[in-house]
Amino acid sequence: MKGTVLYAPGDVRFEERPEPKIIKPTDAIVRISVTCVCGSDLWPYRGANPITQPTPMGHEYCGIVEEVGSAVKAVRPGQFVIGSFATSDNTCPHCRYGYRSSCEHREWITTAQAPQLRVPLADGTLVATPDVPPDEMLPSMLALSDVMGTGWFAAYAANVKPGGTVVVVGDGAVGLLGVLSARQMGAGQIIAMSRHESRQKLAREFGATDIVAERGEEAAVRIKELTKGIGADSVLECVGTPESMMQAIGSTRPGGHIGYVGVPHGVELKGEKLFYTHVHLHGGPAPVRRFLPELIDLVWKGKINPGKVFDLTLPLDQVAEGYRAMDERRAIKALLRP
Ligand SMILES: [Zn+2]
Ligand SMILES: [Zn+2]
Repeated sequence: MKGTVLYAPGDVRFEERPEPKIIKPTDAIVRISVTCVCGSDLWPYRGANPITQPTPMGHEYCGIVEEVGSAVKAVRPGQFVIGSFATSDNTCPHCRYGYRSSCEHREWITTAQAPQLRVPLADGTLVATPDVPPDEMLPSMLALSDVMGTGWFAAYAANVKPGGTVVVVGDGAVGLLGVLSARQMGAGQIIAMSRHESRQKLAREFGATDIVAERGEEAAVRIKELTKGIGADSVLECVGTPESMMQAIGSTRPGGHIGYVGVPHGVELKGEKLFYTHVHLHGGPAPVRRFLPELIDLVWKGKINPGKVFDLTLPLDQVAEGYRAMDERRAIKALLRP
């Protein structure tokens, strides 16, 4: 089988890789229907994370179960399944509290940009859909594997409530789906921060009521104006840079909540400054698995269509072009078909 391997910044190859096999009785092998490039894949691609050896890539996936280990009970061959990028047993204390991406037995999925994938802890990690979804539903099902679940968690962590005011920092796939999540949770005002026309358009389609194209100080002033001088109840931080984090803190009203899901790169917070803001901070790698049954149901019934964030579809063997297009911001998110 061939799979995606990152060799160095900008150097993505699609090359011969060992076929995945059942290693533990709790494993499953999934035949990937669709996979994709993640915004977080761009960190190493751009050299922000060091690459010490050729690194297989990919953590967003859905597909058909091909084989299961002897201990797997919840899924069976032939079912269409979606899993999180973090595996979970669903039985340890952290899982039971809902933080399945902090499972005591967590492993990260790292080889999903390939035709086949081994999923450890299959019973806890994978969720089967009611039936094999039609082809046009695949992008939305795939989005649940990470970006939609992460946007949803950002909104949940930011305590989005019916009628509340929301600011979304970041117009990547996660930010855009944070807008969709806030709308679904009943937010009254949703301010999306974006300076790209196509992304602004999708943000509006997903439920944004206002767009702020300014950055930094000017953006802070604009958001104050839009929230009657108060600041937002809920702010979703979906980038992970020092600027985006400060933007989020500066947009939140005293007593408001920030859900931060952008993987921090160089973010440092001054305790004293934070102290006087009165904000709640809640974030981390999204416990996507917790939300999968509910989100699958919403997609299955046609109530949400998060797959709209995929604006580029490529055959899997052209994965390198997917990275390039996202790096150059020619594409929001690249879907890959094996
Ligand atoms: Zn991802
Ligand atoms: Zn666990």
